[in-house]
Amino acid sequence: MNYFRKSIHEMSGYVPGEQPPLGIKIIKLNSNENPYPPSPKALKALQEIDGEMLRRYPDPTGKSFRMAASKVLGFPDDWIIAGNGSDDLLNLIVRAAGEAGKQIVCPAPTYVLYRTLAEIQDAKFVEVPYPDDYQLPVDLLIAAQGAVTFVASPNSPSGTAISVADLEKLAEELSGILVIDEAYVDFAENNALELTKKYSNVIVLRTLSKGYSLAGLRLGFAVANPALLAELNKVKDSYNVDALAYLVATSAIADQNYKTANAEKIKASLAKLAVSFKELGFDVWPSQTNFLLVRPPNGDAERIYQTLKVRGILIRYFNQPRLEDKLRITVGTEAQNQILVKTLKEIV
Ligand SMILES: *Cc1c(COP(=O)(O)O)cnc(C)c1O
Repeated sequence: MNYFRKSIHEMSGYVPGEQPPLGIKIIKLNSNENPYPPSPKALKALQEIDGEMLRRYPDPTGKSFRMAASKVLGFPDDWIIAGNGSDDLLNLIVRAAGEAGKQIVCPAPTYVLYRTLAEIQDAKFVEVPYPDDYQLPVDLLIAAQGAVTFVASPNSPSGTAISVADLEKLAEELSGILVIDEAYVDFAENNALELTKKYSNVIVLRTLSKGYSLAGLRLGFAVANPALLAELNKVKDSYNVDALAYLVATSAIADQNYKTANAEKIKASLAKLAVSFKELGFDVWPSQTNFLLVRPPNGDAERIYQTLKVRGILIRYFNQPRLEDKLRITVGTEAQNQILVKTLKEIV
């Protein structure tokens, strides 16, 4: 029995990383969450909410949040649109631009949700393989001419950053939309925000889930020219972000000192962790994120994933071509990382 569209019936659906309930004693390094708490200013804002704020509908466009983001980014607030996580904005873009007969393109392996969204929309999904060094296959992406091209920079699950020059070439040569997904920008050396000013087809996506330790809040935003955002605004739910999320996010994004110090701690831990993995004989890809892609000696990634899980450490294993011999490991606190390395020494 099938009540739904053929493409929905036949697709497999996105499978998120395992999310065990709070309170279960586990070292959770599988979803690239930030191991440190959110800004104390954001938590204080949450404690001070009043009922009137919840009785009323939220601001449909989150003006206060966009003003706070505008101040941080140096972009006018009408160049910013907020979403229920950046996943919501990815969804809006594909719903607005994707349909049967059109192509959604991305280099791969990358964030799997891009495929799911294309399939929901009946658009043709085209993956251009990354070479092993994860340099962007610019010419092949240009040749594919997607209605939408997604590039995560830095990329997941590789952790590798893409040069702004390569992204600019892509922006220049694509006739469709170029979405630059900067979910990990807070740990990266560069960003491509300026390209939105020069190219009317570029959208840069940001999130508070990683750098701001607010994955549970669900707040992402996009930066692009107002003409482009006007089309996305037609497609979004009127109240796509709730009042609590706007309140907490506004305080969090204003607290840049906290975010920067937090990111510096993680970058230092990542560098140490990379050294430890190399000492254990793993291949390690250069990462500008809060996670590492590694290949264990002999490539027995699945066994290591399973063994760590039994020992209470959750990491990410992707059972798919090119990744089945690798592991993606989120940087934890110093204490968590030490337990991880100690446990690995015992089982590798
Ligand atoms: C985490 C992540 C997202 C999702 O961010 P949310 O704001 O939590 O929806 C988007 N893109 C990439 C590449 C990510 O890793």
